[in-house]
Amino acid sequence: MLRQTLYLFSILFLLSCNTSKKAVSSGDSIDFTILQLNDVYEIAPLEGGKVGGLARVATVKKQLLKENPNTIAVLSGDFLSPSLIGTLKKENGERIAGQQMVETLNAMGLDYATFGNHEFDLKSADLLQKRINQSQFEYTICNVKRADLPGGPQAFTQKIDNQDRPIPEYIIKEFSDSKGNTMKVGIIGVLLPFNQASYVQYDPVVESFRKTYELLKDKTDVVIAMTHLNISDDLSLAKEVPGVLLFMGGHDHVEMNHYVEETVITKADANAKSAYIHRVSFYPSSGTAKVRSSWMPITDKIQDDPTTAAVVEKWQSKVYQIMNEQGYNPDEVVMTTSVPLECKEVDIRSRQTNYGALTTSAFEYVLPNADAYMINSGSMRMDDNISGTVTQFDVLRTFPFGGGIVKMELPGNVLQKFLEIALKTNKGEGGYFQVKNISNTNGQWLINGQAINIGQTYTVVIPEFVAKGNEANLGFLADFKYKKEATFSVKGSTIQNDVRDIVIAYMKTL
Ligand SMILES: [Zn+2]
Repeated sequence: MLRQTLYLFSILFLLSCNTSKKAVSSGDSIDFTILQLNDVYEIAPLEGGKVGGLARVATVKKQLLKENPNTIAVLSGDFLSPSLIGTLKKENGERIAGQQMVETLNAMGLDYATFGNHEFDLKSADLLQKRINQSQFEYTICNVKRADLPGGPQAFTQKIDNQDRPIPEYIIKEFSDSKGNTMKVGIIGVLLPFNQASYVQYDPVVESFRKTYELLKDKTDVVIAMTHLNISDDLSLAKEVPGVLLFMGGHDHVEMNHYVEETVITKADANAKSAYIHRVSFYPSSGTAKVRSSWMPITDKIQDDPTTAAVVEKWQSKVYQIMNEQGYNPDEVVMTTSVPLECKEVDIRSRQTNYGALTTSAFEYVLPNADAYMINSGSMRMDDNISGTVTQFDVLRTFPFGGGIVKMELPGNVLQKFLEIALKTNKGEGGYFQVKNISNTNGQWLINGQAINIGQTYTVVIPEFVAKGNEANLGFLADFKYKKEATFSVKGSTIQNDVRDIVIAYMKTL
C-alpha cells in the first residue's frame, strides 16, 4: 500500500469530572480501542478477492481484543442495502434484504451501529424492525423516529433479552483498567435526512445532536459519535457542537480524516476496503483524553476468521448458485480499469458518470443506429465505485434487478418532455438518467448535436422497465409501443437481452 498510516491526536479537556471514579495517580490512563467501519454493502472481499471482507475484519477485531480487552467495533451506517444478495429471495419468498449482513456482522462481533440512509431502503418499517431484532449488536440514533404507527412518531425498537426496547438516542459504555478504575464513554448516532423514507421522521441534525450531547456530557467522561453525514456537515457539526472527541463518520465512501476544533473526524473506505482503529487514553486525574487514530487497509494479507468466513460462505454460495443457474460466472474477470467506474448514488443520480456512459455505449453495441440511448440511474444500485479488476459479480451487483432493453419510437415533443423529466425534474432520484447522444445547450435539448425537431420521430433505446411507464413521472411512456428482441447477435456471438449480459459482453471488448 502506498498510502501511509496516519496518526491523529486529539486532547479533549473535559468540563466535568465524574466524581464517583477512584483516584489514580497522574499519568495513569484507562485505555480503550474502537474498530470503525462505515458503508458496508458486501460481506465478501472485492476486486478479485484482494480487498475488503468481513471475515478479515473479524480477525482484526480479535487481534485488537488481545491487545486490549477494552475493544469495541462500530459501524457508522449503511449496511442493510443495497447489495445483489439482498435483492434475492429466500425459499419463503421474502427478500434477503440485509439478513446476510446482520448474520455476518453478528459473527464478526460488531458492538454498535447507527442508521445510514440505506437502512431505510427496506420496503417497510416492519421488515427493518425484523432485521434490527436479528442484530446482536446495539443501535443508537439521536434524530430518527418511526413515523408509521398510530399515536405519532416514536423510536424504533430493538428486541434485547426478549424485550422490545426503544433504540436510545445515546449509549453509555463503561470501561475499566486492570486496577478496577472505571470510566464512561457516551456514544451518539446521527444521520443526514437523505433519500427519505415515508415511514421515518428525520429531526434536524445539529439541534438533535446538541440536545443529546448536552444530556450526555455530564454523565460521561468522554463523548464520541457515529455520524452518517456528508463531510461538509461533519465539519460544521464539529464547530457547532464542540467537545466531542471523535466523529466516526460514514456516507462518504473514501478514506479521509480531519481535525476540527477539538474533534477528530475519520471515514474509512466503503465495503470494508479499510477500517479506522482508534486507541483512546483517558486520564482520570486531569479529566483529559487522547485519541490516536490509524487507518488500516483490509487486504488478502489478513487471514479470515473461520466463524465469520463460514457465515459469509453460506450466503455467497447461495448467490453463486442462483447466478450460476441464470448462466453467470460471478468470478470471471471481464475488464480491468485504472480509472474508477463511478456508480455512487450521489453521482449517478445527479450527473453523467463514466459507468453510465459505458452502459449506454453497451446498449449501442447491441442495438446500433438508434438516435439516443438512456438508462434510469435507479437500476444501477451498487452505490460504490469499482476500479482494478472488474468481475461479472461487479456487473451483477451494479444491476441487481437485471431486465431487458427495448427500442421505442417517440415524437419529438414527447422525447423533449421525457428529457426534461429524466434529466431535470428527476435529478437526485433514481429516475435521473444516464444518456448517450443527448446534450443540452441554453435550455435546448440536442440529439446528436441537432436541436430536437418537434415534428420528427426519434428512436430511443431504454430499459423495458422504463418503457412500461414504471419510472417516476414517466408513466406516459406506457402509451407508446416498443420493440423487444429476445437476443442480440453481435460479431457472431449471441447475447441475451438483459442489461447484465449486455454490459458484460461490451466490457469484454474494451
Ligand atoms: Zn449513506
